[in-house]
Amino acid sequence: MGSSPTPADSPGAAHYNRLQRWLGIADFALGLALLVVLLATGWTGTLRDLSYRAAFQNYSLAVFLYLVILLAISKFLSFGLDYYGFRLEHKYQLSNQKLRPWLFDEVKGFALGIVLGGIAIEVLYFILRQYPEHWWLIAWGVFMGLFVLMAQLAPVILFPIFYKFEPLDDEDLKRRLIVLGERAGTRIRGVYRWRLSEKTKKANAALAGLGSTRRIILADTLLDNYSHEEIEAVLAHELGHHVHRHILKSIAMQAATSFIGFWAANLALHYAAERLHVFESLSDFANLPLLALVFTVLGFLLMPALNAYSRYNERQADRYAFESIASVEPFISSMNKLAGQNLAERTPSRLVEILFHSHPAISRRVEAALAWERKSA
Ligand SMILES: [Zn+2]
Repeated sequence: MGSSPTPADSPGAAHYNRLQRWLGIADFALGLALLVVLLATGWTGTLRDLSYRAAFQNYSLAVFLYLVILLAISKFLSFGLDYYGFRLEHKYQLSNQKLRPWLFDEVKGFALGIVLGGIAIEVLYFILRQYPEHWWLIAWGVFMGLFVLMAQLAPVILFPIFYKFEPLDDEDLKRRLIVLGERAGTRIRGVYRWRLSEKTKKANAALAGLGSTRRIILADTLLDNYSHEEIEAVLAHELGHHVHRHILKSIAMQAATSFIGFWAANLALHYAAERLHVFESLSDFANLPLLALVFTVLGFLLMPALNAYSRYNERQADRYAFESIASVEPFISSMNKLAGQNLAERTPSRLVEILFHSHPAISRRVEAALAWERKSA
């Protein structure tokens, strides 16, 4: 082959991605350390007593105040890292966001955490109080219900808090999508232009929602800089996720892992209350850091497996794209464009890919496209 299909990574891309990874690891370690310190020092009990007093001994209100204090401490501790992340995007000229709008997003994110976390914790400790025997099974069922509801509502309620969306008004692209959809025997209800350029220079695309909210969203940073053939290749990939029912499968995966999580949490809470006598009962909400710790550690342990599953789905969606577009050429050029624009590592080390990447490396995706073309020629 004359020219390599995958250009080499720039030193900047390698450096940027290494810093991003360290940022993620530091953020994770900080969160973990906070939970461990709260439990080991007994400060979680102090916080509980404080919450009770501020709530005039009302249980539900105290649970909520405890959560707010916990989230505030956590945000206070991690804010330095968040700000470093903001600076990093600017340093590599990837951001279009000024400090004030970024701070406003931080505030919105924090408020959203309090609302969603507040609902979750009230439901959880209500179940723990009412059904101490089978709480973990009931909570698992209820949380899966909430999870499905959120997957359905996210595109219409959550995403618009941070981003603007408008229906795609490009007739040629719409026509291409209809043809792709008809070939797949499916119909996507909506394609939306996602105004990502207000925040970043990076490009992105996604399939989101369930049932009537199912939609493909395409960043304006992609729509404005890619040829129609390249956008069609991206659309075909997203349609591949739809055809292979990847959102439904991810929900099933979530159900399996959270079942293990609630089961392990039940063991941990019983052990802490009955053997170690550090909590008065299961519904003593000072045990929240222990619950969070169980889910955090489980999530960490399962991350390589969940990433492997995600990469498998991505390869499936890619294959679907190869089959539905006239030539893999625009797919390959869109991949290389995306890598350049997002400062992604086209060829990360195998270990980094296995541990951290939800998508196969760009170089592998390009290789797969070329292999498919050779096979079908
Ligand atoms: Zn994908």
